[in-house]
Amino acid sequence: MWTCRNCNVSFDFDRVEPELDEQGFFFLCPACDYRNKLVDTGPDATGRPKLVQSDDGVSRQDQSD
Ligand SMILES: [Zn+2]
Repeated sequence: MWTCRNCNVSFDFDRVEPELDEQGFFFLCPACDYRNKLVDTGPDATGRPKLVQSDDGVSRQDQSD
């Protein structure tokens, strides 16, 4: 679940498309188009980049699915 830092709406990972440009990973909020920064913390169990919101505490990202 990602939460827009602008409008505070949460979205499931499969509802938003992470994007990458020269400044790094981000997703655009479907509700307000705010650019939310993401950080690649390395490949997950399936080999895909695991993206977290940069201002989330790492300790909160302990959900393993
Ligand atoms: Zn938003």
